[in-house]
Amino acid sequence: MLLSFSYYVKGNACVDTGAEYIHGASEENPVYCLLKKSGLLNQIPEMGEEAFYSNKGHKVDANFARYAYGAGESIIRYRGSNTGKSLGEHYAEKTQGMIDSLQEDNDKRTRMQSIFALVGKDMLIDVGASDLHRISLDSWQYYINMGDSLNIAGYDGLRRRSAFICNYCSLNDSISVKCYVYRLLLKREVSKIKWDGSFCVAPPHDELLLSAHTESPSEEKLCQYPVCIVCENGEEIVADHVIVTISLGCLKAHASSLFIPSLPTEKMEAIDKLCFGNIAKIFLEYEEAFWESDVGTISLIYEDDTPASVSTNKMQWLKNMQYFSVLRPKERLMFSKKCIGHSNIPQPKSILCTKWRSNKFIKGTYAFLTVGVDGKVMDTLAQPLVGSQHPNKDHQVLFAGEATMKTLYGTVQGALLSGHREADRLAAHYKKTVAPTSATSLDKQV
Ligand SMILES: Cc1cc2nc3c(=O)[nH]c(=O)nc-3n(C[C@H](O)[C@H](O)[C@H](O)COP(=O)(O)OP(=O)(O)OC[C@H]3O[C@@H](n4cnc5c(N)ncnc54)[C@H](O)[C@@H]3O)c2cc1C
Repeated sequence: MLLSFSYYVKGNACVDTGAEYIHGASEENPVYCLLKKSGLLNQIPEMGEEAFYSNKGHKVDANFARYAYGAGESIIRYRGSNTGKSLGEHYAEKTQGMIDSLQEDNDKRTRMQSIFALVGKDMLIDVGASDLHRISLDSWQYYINMGDSLNIAGYDGLRRRSAFICNYCSLNDSISVKCYVYRLLLKREVSKIKWDGSFCVAPPHDELLLSAHTESPSEEKLCQYPVCIVCENGEEIVADHVIVTISLGCLKAHASSLFIPSLPTEKMEAIDKLCFGNIAKIFLEYEEAFWESDVGTISLIYEDDTPASVSTNKMQWLKNMQYFSVLRPKERLMFSKKCIGHSNIPQPKSILCTKWRSNKFIKGTYAFLTVGVDGKVMDTLAQPLVGSQHPNKDHQVLFAGEATMKTLYGTVQGALLSGHREADRLAAHYKKTVAPTSATSLDKQV
């Protein structure tokens, strides 16, 4: 359950409907290392040129746009620490200072502030939030910088430019061959997690046969387990330990009914305090490209936008489709656009729109921190449950998943390392000697 990538295949095309970028292209990032080891890094295509268009129908000078975008990014990626402020408040205040410094040059002011607004909208995608004023300025105080794309303190250029776009479906294929497939039970929807109990399971058939020849199977011969997972199909699976990796969205929706007995109050409060965001991706397939052949990304700039007004407004949802990427190689097409200046843009051949919020197995995208919520709440979410019935059967229910990693939430590597962390926890519990993984050492840094 720890690495589940979402993709959609149609003919020769394969598009990532979920995770797409590697945030932090360095040896410190285990996902990057996995890709490298699998030889998949060589398959990452060139990104192509960036183009910026305004809603007035003209192309914006790319040098100016990149300069303004970089300036906006260095402000918005500020790492606050115990400020108690919102990102929106900070961003509006600091960008206004830069806009004011342009004094009489009204055109430049307009372009500058609309590009700052674009940076704000891109940030909403990164965070999964709908309003910069809801996001805590202290969101990244514990965050680990794994490379360029997470260099919050002043990355020079577009963040997405330096994040590698990879094909996570290829990575999935490469990982799954290494899994012991016969131990994976697929398509089992868990409806209850009973813990702190005594659940029996009959010994395997051959053991029963053996004991039938010696003595009758007694209660003692049946194994006792503290946890029992009940699946939607009625199947029951007993265990000493269970690592729960369902999304924060699913925990918010089901935690109160999923666990028997109920989760402790502090765990429920942690689930409540953390926010689970949402974004959508829309894939448009065209018979033929109508954009310039060297273009890889297209950003739309709305001249009436300001950094202070960045939020998603349902009535104006189109304005929040601010960024389009041309999927490469060419047969993997995605694109759309309103203000590119063509009057003859063809109808797309097919459209695919993600619906993460209504997907019952995720219910959103990834976690974020609102104003006043400290990242340490994620540590509370990560704490294993302590049973009262069996003091010697500790760590019955453990928690992993991106929302349990205050150092890397919202990322694939965060999810992966949270799994390593819980595996280490169990290994330590059984006093096995294992080499510390990067997750353990990363957690010690903060
Ligand atoms: C649109 C989108 C874009 C993203 N882009 C990026 C990106 O570019 N780069 C990046 O690093 N990260 C990105 N992310 C974030 C990244 O995908 C997540 O952080 C990561 O996948 C979280 O992994 P997880 O194991 O915590 O949870 P999940 O991947 O949500 O896995 C939870 C699993 O639990 C299963 N489940 C839920 N309920 C039940 C149940 N009742 N019974 C049984 N199983 C259940 C689900 O089916 C799922 O398989 C993106 C996410 C989204 C949605």
